[in-house]
Amino acid sequence: MRVGVLALQGGFIEHIRHLQSLGADTFEIRKCWDLAQPMDGLIIPGGESTTIGKLLNDLDLFDDLKKKIDSGLPVFGTCAGMILLAREIAGTETVYFDSIDIIVKRNAYGRQLGSFFTEAEMTGIGTVPMTFIRAPYIESAGAGVEILSVVNGRIVAAREKNVLVTAFHPELTSDNRVHRYFIENVIRI
Ligand code: GLN
Repeated sequence: MRVGVLALQGGFIEHIRHLQSLGADTFEIRKCWDLAQPMDGLIIPGGESTTIGKLLNDLDLFDDLKKKIDSGLPVFGTCAGMILLAREIAGTETVYFDSIDIIVKRNAYGRQLGSFFTEAEMTGIGTVPMTFIRAPYIESAGAGVEILSVVNGRIVAAREKNVLVTAFHPELTSDNRVHRYFIENVIRI
């Protein structure tokens, strides 16, 4: 199994380490020719969604990635990655991949509370350590979306078909079970 990790900005190395610890082969996606490689899954990491969104267009990656996701490529977006995959970003006209029927709120916890650590239940996994960094949350989700975790009344993990998203950063803890979930439940369906 080969998983491509978008490596334009933000924390992609940690995702690669988790994937490799689970026995997956990985490669970094930086240029459009990287997309010629066979790919069973894709990770869009955290960072700054506006920066990653701009780079995706400037580097001619956006259209090809969107086509692949729309045709069923399993994808896992964390934090900024979740924002890029959402159908709508609250309060803006901007939309990127439009791959999962959720409305997300950027920087949703305010300046002071934007970064925090907690542990909470995630459906299909159990209690998961969760690191939030200037995090978004999911304001609302369509009927086809499975809500996987709620923290303080806010949806922080969800899945629709081939698309998994978390508002937190599972790659920043030593616990690789969310990546395992992606491999076992989203890639291998
Ligand atoms: N606040 C960032 C954004 O809006 C996301 C933060 C993150 O990925 N850690 O893109």
